[in-house]
Amino acid sequence: MRSSVKKSIFAVLLIIVVIIIGSMIFRKDPPPNIVFIIIDTLRADHSHMGDDVAGETPALKKLFKNNSAYFGTSYSNAPWTLPSISSMITSKFPSEIGVVKRNSKIDEKFITLAEVLKENGYRTHGVITHIFLKKKYGLGQGFDTYLEKIDSSDNNLFSVTSPIVTAEAIKIIDENKEKPFFMFLHYFDPHYRYVDHENRSSYKGPFLPDENEAKKAEIIKENLFSQNDLEYFKECYRSEIRFTDIHIKRVIEKLKEQGLYENTLIVIVSDHGEEFGERGTLGHGQSLFDEQTKIPFILKLPGKFEPSVNIRPSFSNIDISPTILDVAGINIPASFRGTSILDEKGSETIFMEVNEKKYDTLYNQCAIVHKGWKLIKDFENNKFELYDLNGDKPEKSNKFNSNKKMFFSMFKILKRYIRMIEDNKHISQKTNLTAEEKKKLETLGYIGN
Ligand SMILES: [Zn+2]
Repeated sequence: MRSSVKKSIFAVLLIIVVIIIGSMIFRKDPPPNIVFIIIDTLRADHSHMGDDVAGETPALKKLFKNNSAYFGTSYSNAPWTLPSISSMITSKFPSEIGVVKRNSKIDEKFITLAEVLKENGYRTHGVITHIFLKKKYGLGQGFDTYLEKIDSSDNNLFSVTSPIVTAEAIKIIDENKEKPFFMFLHYFDPHYRYVDHENRSSYKGPFLPDENEAKKAEIIKENLFSQNDLEYFKECYRSEIRFTDIHIKRVIEKLKEQGLYENTLIVIVSDHGEEFGERGTLGHGQSLFDEQTKIPFILKLPGKFEPSVNIRPSFSNIDISPTILDVAGINIPASFRGTSILDEKGSETIFMEVNEKKYDTLYNQCAIVHKGWKLIKDFENNKFELYDLNGDKPEKSNKFNSNKKMFFSMFKILKRYIRMIEDNKHISQKTNLTAEEKKKLETLGYIGN
């Protein structure tokens, strides 16, 4: 063999060896799949992820305890669905995107989590069950498929949808085994109206399924429910959570069955809590107290990690999308306000707001939580409430008059957020609701405008 041919063969072999070694050094793990689950209306104190109580989510608890996850409590930036979920997917406060009213819409100019993931090669799929998550509200931005599974029939006031969401999720997993996917699932069943799925209750009263609907609405509107009614609501609510837990467990089992679980990031949160008479009312959207704003947060990273309850105390909705992108190794857009949970240097302050009517009352408030204290500004009644969240009576004993030093220190921070609300008042994209959608919202407790 001529020496020049030998040299050529040697050169080719050398290039091949360099390519192989290079690919071994620079080989990246495949990007993780991402499953983002919202359980509507799940209060933080009903997930029991970090304690020894079996609670209403035994299946989730077992799965995550054995497979390593972060879990803890977090805050919602708003006490009702539309602004809360909008702030999760844009990593901006409701005021900043102008999503504060029942007909507010996310403008296309705002970047959403699904858009970023799609740009980075993910197939993006959403399954939703509430009018407020419809495409017409701008929440479908960036999704390849977005299934609106809303039960709009007049004769089904209870809208049981968890089995439908799970069935669609299982199809998505089956169809996306080979490529990285982002799956956004919205489970709605713990939201009012509550269903007693297990028929355990012996309740006799005005809220049984066959009783008069107008009467039920009137009792709730006027806060005339009895202790007996409240116990029934709570019993049904817990039943709804257990029911949802069973269906989410099926999705996680499907991931395991397909060999995808290990390389999947799973995030489970709620959009807001629920009040059961703690302040004399029922439901959500009418205060910024913990019953309505404290939510569970569960994060199962790809691979194996030690379970931890040590999540940053100042974690809220706006931090969810940055966390997902951080874990996926994707740059966080400059427009995102939040910080990944893996970054210990997040903001020390949580901000939350509400500016919407319920029945005939406008609830226009904002609040901050900062180092164990909460300061609420009520714009309608022009008053402040200051609470020591670690005190004997959290959120029951207003320290506004008795701790002026703390008030002024908190107000200095809150003022910046009040200015932000003022600065963004001009942002307001609207969507039109049909008569049928308005009627459906009324059955879910969104009454008055
Ligand atoms: Zn909700």
